Amino acid sequence: MTDRLPAGVTQGKQGQSSDAKRPFILGSTLPALLLTAIFLLLPAPWAAADTITGYTPIFRAGHDTTGTLQIAIRRFQQNGLPRLLIVNPATLATATVKESELNFDRPAPQANLKATPYLRALDRHTAPPYRLQNHGARHADLPVEGFFLTVDMCPSGRPFEREFFTTVTRLPQGKEGPVPMAISMSGRWLQQHSKELAWLKEQVSAGRLAITWINHSLTHPYDPKAPLEHNFLLKPGTDIERELLATEVLLLENGLLPGPYFRFPGLVADGRLIRRLRELGLIPIGADAWLAKGETPGKGSFILVHGNGNEPPGIKKALALFASGHIHLLPLAWAFTAPASP
Ligand SMILES: [Zn+2]
Repeated sequence: MTDRLPAGVTQGKQGQSSDAKRPFILGSTLPALLLTAIFLLLPAPWAAADTITGYTPIFRAGHDTTGTLQIAIRRFQQNGLPRLLIVNPATLATATVKESELNFDRPAPQANLKATPYLRALDRHTAPPYRLQNHGARHADLPVEGFFLTVDMCPSGRPFEREFFTTVTRLPQGKEGPVPMAISMSGRWLQQHSKELAWLKEQVSAGRLAITWINHSLTHPYDPKAPLEHNFLLKPGTDIERELLATEVLLLENGLLPGPYFRFPGLVADGRLIRRLRELGLIPIGADAWLAKGETPGKGSFILVHGNGNEPPGIKKALALFASGHIHLLPLAWAFTAPASP
């Protein structure tokens, strides 16, 4: 049903190398020079594997090759091939598929769509009245026996909280499988910390962590002197569309799947931003237990800490919480789906 990114890398490489060899078999210099020139003009294989173009928001229900209802939220070209980012409205799981793999001919009735956990969460958490700070989901919508760990990676020149992440991988439930956590990723942090990102990806491929990726804007604007009304994404001159979409492209280009979630920088937004988030199919993720601010988590809480080295007091509290042994972490989607759903 789904293709893990990046797809088709090996094929591209093989095709190019056999083309490049052909001139020597023919024994003619001119075609050889010509083909070498063409080869040099082609994007390098490592760049081609990661190149996403034409990234466009859509919102369209269809059925995948197994007949499962999916909602396509982005259309894009990867290595020149049309693909879709889709959300399973029952589980909130995202995937990328070839455009041809989604059948739009048999649309689901609007009433059925509206009743799915994804649409219910989207409508509920983007509805007015709008809060300037912390609008959106701050706590599980359903009773759950556990907590949701959300870790913000705002741009930072500091090394990330390796000890903290390592501790999460070793939480007791790790024996039953990877430990679920959500990471709110800013595009800038991702671009400037490739080794640390690789380490996080390693934890996933080794089965130690199951990470839900939350979009945390591209540049994460911030002015320490500006009032909230004109700060973060409300800072005058902010390119909203770029801030809301570019990080998804970066995640996909790095082989990671963005979830249908957004965390506002500083948790600050206005009605215009929240309505745009709704159109883009993104659920705003707030928090009711920002540990560094002294908030205490209860069952179903969205715990917020910074994993980028910028807020050591929060990390210290999280480590103490883990040491108490009472923290059972859950995948973020479970805040919006029935507890038994995967
Ligand atoms: Zn942030």
